[in-house]
Amino acid sequence: MPKLTINGKEVEVPEGTNLIEAAKAAGAEVPHYCYHPALSIAGQCRLCMVDIDKVPRPQIACNTQATEGMVVHTETERVLETRRSMMEFHLINHPLDCPVCDQAGECFLQIYYMKHGLYDPRMVDEKVHKPKAVPIGPHVMLDAERCILCSRCVRFCDEITHTGELGIFQRGDQSEIGLFPGTALENKYSGNVIDICPVGALTDRDFRFQVRVWYLDTAKSVCNGCARGCNVEVHTNRHRPHHNQGRRVARLKPRFNAEVNQWWLCDEGRYGFKWVDDKSRLTHPLHRGGGEGAEVSWDRALPELVKRLQGCPPDEVGLLASPKMSNEDLWALRRLAEHLGVRNLDFRVPPGAPGDEDDFLIRADKNPNSRGAELIGVAPDPGGRDAAGILRAARERRLKLLWIFHHDLAASGWPEAEVLAAIENTETVIFQGTNANDISARAHLVLPSAAYVETEGTFTNFQGRVQRFRTAIPPLGESWPDWMILSVVGKALGASDPVFSAERAEQVFNALAAAVPAFGGMTYRALGDAGRMVTA
Ligand code: SF4
Ligand code: SF4
Repeated sequence: MPKLTINGKEVEVPEGTNLIEAAKAAGAEVPHYCYHPALSIAGQCRLCMVDIDKVPRPQIACNTQATEGMVVHTETERVLETRRSMMEFHLINHPLDCPVCDQAGECFLQIYYMKHGLYDPRMVDEKVHKPKAVPIGPHVMLDAERCILCSRCVRFCDEITHTGELGIFQRGDQSEIGLFPGTALENKYSGNVIDICPVGALTDRDFRFQVRVWYLDTAKSVCNGCARGCNVEVHTNRHRPHHNQGRRVARLKPRFNAEVNQWWLCDEGRYGFKWVDDKSRLTHPLHRGGGEGAEVSWDRALPELVKRLQGCPPDEVGLLASPKMSNEDLWALRRLAEHLGVRNLDFRVPPGAPGDEDDFLIRADKNPNSRGAELIGVAPDPGGRDAAGILRAARERRLKLLWIFHHDLAASGWPEAEVLAAIENTETVIFQGTNANDISARAHLVLPSAAYVETEGTFTNFQGRVQRFRTAIPPLGESWPDWMILSVVGKALGASDPVFSAERAEQVFNALAAAVPAFGGMTYRALGDAGRMVTA
């Protein structure tokens, strides 16, 4: 581990560390465009110049490795002048269309000009013009005039997705990013080029002009699109225009986690949040007494549910949990099942279509918490029925009450006719979930759940990593977190478990950690931002 001095501060860094990362360790920022820790070194933008003792000229920090005894200066007059000159070069042909650029507010041309530029422009000639707002794939818009040719996007497609759609074409000031003939930027991870483009050259077709970025609030969360559980930031729209409420979740951005997703997200997950503000969201409890459902208050819906549960022998109740529910939700359900003496409990419903998978991030299991459900024991007790058995018993009129969480059973791998017969033949069907579907349309009681971005909790990913998601927006309408619905029901049924007097998800998690060895010793604080592995 070489020891070196940066701006008078001694630091020790792992062998092979470059001077950008070494400076970071010493608390010094070296500005850069083309360097990205996940990509090969291009040395293209020349912005990361630093002075090194005994070296006659400034060197690029990205391509210089830290060595023993090196003495580095990141803020000499010569370095500052070099940065200013490089910024001037980068902006010579830039259109300066910041007011209509979607990157404004998070653009590293703006940020670095203010920090390291502030020169008086000398460019008086007509700028080179290039095509603007050209869609290059389903998610990405290219504005070639704004591109500084850092080649990050090209290297991403060459080195991370190995799809190689992008290249730099032409020469000199005519050089331009573009697609190879006959290709489109439509690989499964294309949205990442938008994140790594340091300027407004690659923007997000889905997010463009939705909201100026300085109006966004952010919350740390976890993608619920598959069992990987990529770490995300949820960006929410604080200032929704009056004439058009728009969507509340404006976009998802990746959040670095070395063990889970590094810097990346797949497109399916990145753009897969629209259901949160979709018209199909269930916003009020519904009671259906034979005909159309009527909206009712929780004060009417929950006593109705409690009454029906009390009127049922435990072996005639079936609980179909969902691996989309958090650990907290599933623990509350597990405890409620125990209190009721219900043995028919499961979460495994066959998916309607087989999920795609690759050897990078995407998992075939499109649920965020199957592993959590397994560890918590969301499974039939001895003598109880699994999911298929519950459905069969319902079809054969051997169940009086079927409580379905989130699943659209009609779109599952089970034959639709069998599912509908099961629903038809059950006296009380309760649907609890976020969005309406064919099952909620037939249920006697519908309980609206808060979406994962509207509450807090944890998911356990396929690796066994327990990860927190935080509240980004308030629950829509009258929806409640699943654990809260279950705890109110448990309390009304006279259950004494602390889960049923919890007021926050964290209290349910603490109860889970105290009871299930795999989660032993965990707390929200201990999970931190990167999560923790369950005990094997
Ligand atoms: S489009 Fe963006 S990421 Fe790609 S080379 Fe240009 S500036 Fe760099
Ligand atoms: S790989 Fe899975 S968890 Fe990651 S972004 Fe895609 S859908 Fe979400």
